[in-house]
Amino acid sequence: MEKKEEIMEKPFWKCSNCGYTLQEEKPPEVCPSCNEKCDFINVSCYTPECGFKGIDPRLG
Ligand SMILES: [Zn+2]
Repeated sequence: MEKKEEIMEKPFWKCSNCGYTLQEEKPPEVCPSCNEKCDFINVSCYTPECGFKGIDPRLG
């Protein structure tokens, strides 16, 4: 099996306020859903346990 040291895909971010999820390099300053400055949690997951969906089901 190959080891993937570098991840080229953009991370997933989830708004801690409304749960809005988006895939971007960085979390947005203002949540497109809340239109407020929310805290964004990185919910990216690249391991097979997450089902290759890109989002950790335990977090997202
Ligand atoms: Zn939000």
